[in-house]
Amino acid sequence: MAVQSDILIPLPRDRDHKSAKPLHFIEELTLNTDPIQEKVLAQILSQNAHTEYLKRFHLNGATDRQTFKSKVPVVTYEDLQPDIQRIANGDRSPIFCSHPISEFLTSSGTSAGERKLMPTISQDMDRRQLLYSLLMPVMNQYVSGLDKGKALHFLFIKAETKTAGGLVARPVLTSYYKSEQFTKRPFDPYNVLTSPDEAILCQDSFQSMYTQMLCGLIMRHEVLRVGAVFASGLLRAIRFLQLNWEQLAHDIKTGTLNPKITEPSIKQCMSKILKPDPELADFITKECSGENWERIIVRIWPNTKYLDVIVTGAMAQYIPTLDYYSGGLPKPCTMYASSECFFGLNLKPMSQPSDVSYTILPNMGYFEFLPHDDSNPITLSKDSPPRLVDLADVELGKFYELIITTYAGLCRYRVGDILQVTGFHNSDPQFRFVRRKNVLLSIDSDKTDEAELQKATENASELLKEFNTSVVEYTSFADTKSIPGHYVIYWELLMKDSSCPPTEEVLNKCCLVMEESLNSVYRQGRVADNSIGPLEIRVVKNGTFEELMDYAISRGASINQYKVPRCVSFTPIMELLDSRVVSFHFSPAAPHWTPERRR
Ligand code: AMP
Repeated sequence: MAVQSDILIPLPRDRDHKSAKPLHFIEELTLNTDPIQEKVLAQILSQNAHTEYLKRFHLNGATDRQTFKSKVPVVTYEDLQPDIQRIANGDRSPIFCSHPISEFLTSSGTSAGERKLMPTISQDMDRRQLLYSLLMPVMNQYVSGLDKGKALHFLFIKAETKTAGGLVARPVLTSYYKSEQFTKRPFDPYNVLTSPDEAILCQDSFQSMYTQMLCGLIMRHEVLRVGAVFASGLLRAIRFLQLNWEQLAHDIKTGTLNPKITEPSIKQCMSKILKPDPELADFITKECSGENWERIIVRIWPNTKYLDVIVTGAMAQYIPTLDYYSGGLPKPCTMYASSECFFGLNLKPMSQPSDVSYTILPNMGYFEFLPHDDSNPITLSKDSPPRLVDLADVELGKFYELIITTYAGLCRYRVGDILQVTGFHNSDPQFRFVRRKNVLLSIDSDKTDEAELQKATENASELLKEFNTSVVEYTSFADTKSIPGHYVIYWELLMKDSSCPPTEEVLNKCCLVMEESLNSVYRQGRVADNSIGPLEIRVVKNGTFEELMDYAISRGASINQYKVPRCVSFTPIMELLDSRVVSFHFSPAAPHWTPERRR
């Protein structure tokens, strides 16, 4: 079937979210998954036919799927890194894409400890904008009256840097909030934020959060939804309120702004918003001064219909805490996206988090799927290229790793996400986000894998050598009971000379050395965002890990195959470990972090 080109990106001119147009557009896309995918691939390949990258594989102008699949390899970031580095260093020749690379988006996925740099082109912004424009029309089908109030959505920008060749490198949302698509957006009654743009665009996270919270409190009756991008961000905002409500109430009582808010643009806009309101200040004091913070969100923002946060994937660990603070409000996970490409949306946003499925929109990029089986991982080799499945051909119930080809020039790129097919909307598959491959620990957007944890443990255990001590076993878990959450590492030590055990000071220092060894997204969370608390080492009694093994064997594990889990979350195992702890140690200082890349 022929697909009109304008279906690929019809720019969202129509802001009436009640109109049937956006929903009709989704129907059209999902009814034509395969022809649209074919067209997208052909567009990408013809647009980038003369790039250095595609020329290497001798496509000779072919734009069909068969030639593409037989000639272009499946790659990881590490495969592309030398070329990405050339772009970062200033090479402006068409390496991946015939369009100029407008900037780099810094992913929360890391490579050699630093954020991955994803090249992007200016028209990608339209694709992102398109996906955003579909979210409220979908939501409107389930929740009425969203145009009668505002959204308290905590949005932040992060530090940006320039590469050696002068390209800006920043996170995708920072790029979006700073773009004209956001700053010059037309009035849209369904997307009115309580936060002024001046606060969202302030890089100082305290001033930004303070102002956004203050505005949210002042406009408490108008707030219809409360949110942040990810669940961890909303919990950080609640924690911020716990720590700062007295000053916020003072500002509201007196109509004066906290002197810590020094950003002139914020001061100016707040002079119009902030007026003395002793009654509101008393209300906030009454609600926040008590010990009990249960349902605090609906107590302060009584008209909240739902929490606008993503709670799938690593964020699922925050669901009980969000339920506690909100009295179990719905948590629609509206979209699934990454720095590389925006993928799709959740067409049934009011479903339970465990039932959330994302519909990948076929016009966002060209999507392929590598069958995934945890017990039988596929090793990719150049000689036997893997058989990838097309978007329209994935099978219900099966697990796949997502592979993308983008307009900006990533070809058959492994994103690292594992998805399971849960159903179809028309001919378009829907996926449950299963997990990110190889991620052991995550509190916020940090993703720490097994190799990083191993390296960090090795570096820290160097400090124990002078005490004739070594780490014989270790495991970890992400403790999210307190906000911010923090990494907990259990260590079993072997002391060859018990008369001279490692001192408290040295073990604390081990925590800091581990943090210094972790990737820059972790360190940024610790230093700039305060979204991760100090790393903790819990030293356990000798023999604890053997008991752990006995426990696993008693539950059916084979002695031959048993491996110490490097991350634990199962309650009986945690209880066993915690009951054997002999000492607790915390990082005494923040690790090193600057926006500049280490290499
Ligand atoms: P980044 O490139 O830093 O924006 O990270 C993108 C990654 O975040 C994706 O590849 C996923 O692993 C994860 N992610 C994004 N959206 C979701 C979602 N809705 N649910 C679960 N994980 C998500």
